[in-house]
Amino acid sequence: MNEHESIRELLALAVAGALDEGEQRMLDKHLASCAACSAELDGWRGLAVSLKRLPTPQAPPMLVERTRSRVAFEMAAVAERRKSQWVMAFLVLFSWTVTLVTWPIVRLLSGGLLS
Ligand SMILES: [Zn+2]
Repeated sequence: MNEHESIRELLALAVAGALDEGEQRMLDKHLASCAACSAELDGWRGLAVSLKRLPTPQAPPMLVERTRSRVAFEMAAVAERRKSQWVMAFLVLFSWTVTLVTWPIVRLLSGGLLS
């Protein structure tokens, strides 16, 4: 890749203001001596200005409402799943506790009956 090609890859980023200092310095240095790349940069600038003039696309209200209700539904489902997990964890813990607490009693009773 020659210098022009590597500079041209930076032009769109330069117009977007996305170059770091080193890239910007390299670009400025090259543009000072290269009319072709300068012209291409002007083309990118014109494109960026035209894009900014375009109206921002608006989503149809119906789609916005559907998306909003879908998101609310998904969030409710997540909250319900989380609640179910807590209930399940509580039930498991509770059943283990009951088992551990009643085990000596059962053992005492069955031991008492067996002996
Ligand atoms: Zn050039």
